[in-house]
Amino acid sequence: MTNISLPENIQALKAYSSAKSLKLSGTTWLNANESPYARNFSVALNDFNRYPDPQPEAVINAYARYAALAPDQVLMTRGADEGIELLVRTYCAPGKDSIALFLPTYGMYKVTADTHNVAINSLTQALLLDGSVDEILAAIGDSKLVFICNPNNPTGSLTPVAKIAELASRLSGKALLIVDEAYIEFCAAQTAVGLVQDFANVVVLRTLSKAFALAGLRTGFTLAQPEVLAPIRKVIAPYPVATVVARIAEQALSQDAITQMRRQVTILNAAKQTLVGWLQNASAVTTVLPGEGNFVTLKLKDKASIDLAMQRGLVMRQFTLYGEDDWLRISIGCENELKQVKLWLDAISN
Ligand SMILES: *Cc1c(COP(=O)(O)O)cnc(C)c1O
Repeated sequence: MTNISLPENIQALKAYSSAKSLKLSGTTWLNANESPYARNFSVALNDFNRYPDPQPEAVINAYARYAALAPDQVLMTRGADEGIELLVRTYCAPGKDSIALFLPTYGMYKVTADTHNVAINSLTQALLLDGSVDEILAAIGDSKLVFICNPNNPTGSLTPVAKIAELASRLSGKALLIVDEAYIEFCAAQTAVGLVQDFANVVVLRTLSKAFALAGLRTGFTLAQPEVLAPIRKVIAPYPVATVVARIAEQALSQDAITQMRRQVTILNAAKQTLVGWLQNASAVTTVLPGEGNFVTLKLKDKASIDLAMQRGLVMRQFTLYGEDDWLRISIGCENELKQVKLWLDAISN
């Protein structure tokens, strides 16, 4: 036993249970919003003895082109999750500042704030979607960072870019408005990335983990004006991107690879419509939130249906939403994987 005491905020932490940390067993994996498309990469490297470029130029340039931004508005990180962490570490004073978030939403905002002893101003998706800008601003108060997950995980809902722009304008000089666009490729026209040019307090988070089918690569991007990124560049680890990661990310951002990604998105969006139709007709399902990401979230009539899925090796993500633990998020997989969902739905709906 160690006698070294822990800070109170660390002692109070519960281990974050990510889709992958649960060590579930199964054969059909639709629990982590991963892409079903796996691609082969080959990298020939003869410079492993050298430290990597801290911000690999070819990748930064390729992503800037893809996002229609300038290279100095792009920071490459170890997943979008590292972007979240860097923003909190750089901009929030522990024990003093707070972040605002709209529940239910992505779990890492809270985990990161808790880890860094930063308070959380818990607001609701209902306020974000249905409230007026004045009401939302009043609730945000003096929170330093405001996280809008768009489309929102796990509800799939979208906040209109016009509303985000108005919030950004009114928060100018007071707070950073962070738009987490992990799923934006599935509804590309809805991106707020254009606001990065207009507003010095807008930050957009992106990832290669979802539509780009590279969750294993751990690559994300933080997009903002150079003045916003400058302090973050002082906080980030000296060599955050491994050489091999940079080479693969470069290949994944070629014009051909982006075209291929967009084709896959079209297929996955069509498959989502099929799944939504099945769910809406299934008597075992009471509510369906179709949403704009590569997932569908639904409420079951009977939570025991989840055990029946597990017995079939069908792994989906269970959630407690609005105080009820019978919600389920299904990632859009390949045709064969979704067929397993249909078989299960038929079995539980009689
Ligand atoms: C998956 C996800 C991320 C994490 O992306 P990584 O790049 O894999 O760290 C960030 N935000 C949201 C909303 C996500 O669903």
